[in-house]
Amino acid sequence: MFRAAPNALIAAVGLAGAHRDDKVERIRTTVAEFKRFRDRLDSETMRRAGLLGGARALRLLSQFDKPTRARALLFAAGQVVLPVDDDVSRVVTRLIGESNVRNRGVTKRWLAPQLDRDLNAHRDAIIYLRHHAHHTCTAVGPHCPVCPLRPGCAFAGASSTTRPGGAAP
Ligand code: SF4
Repeated sequence: MFRAAPNALIAAVGLAGAHRDDKVERIRTTVAEFKRFRDRLDSETMRRAGLLGGARALRLLSQFDKPTRARALLFAAGQVVLPVDDDVSRVVTRLIGESNVRNRGVTKRWLAPQLDRDLNAHRDAIIYLRHHAHHTCTAVGPHCPVCPLRPGCAFAGASSTTRPGGAAP
């Protein structure tokens, strides 16, 4: 995505329906934010790690649910944890054909071995999956026809009668 040719990006996004220019602009903004965020992470990780300490301190902040605490540990404290929330769970369970889209245990067991305890792999995977969940693999009416993960996705490959809920992609 960082190196996508402008015309190719515009053509690809044009397949996703109306408001092409707005969508392209949002993608460019997201990619720029992603790059800026990644560039900052390594230089700030050690400083922030000292402030955050660990999950025990974060539990004192009642507004932090479990996935939010895990994201703070992963992105701010540089700890190799896997924050699985409903968004990440939805994408992964659809990919692997698990009928319960909130099955976080199955999601972790499938995802963790592929990330090989690598900090940046964990960060990239979570950023990508959450972005994908918000914009493509949405809870209602996922945009399967334009999804880059479609070839390997059990949900998109299932017929409407075998797909959980029978929803058409
Ligand atoms: S093909 Fe559809 S269900 Fe599968 S990951 Fe993409 S948007 Fe989600």
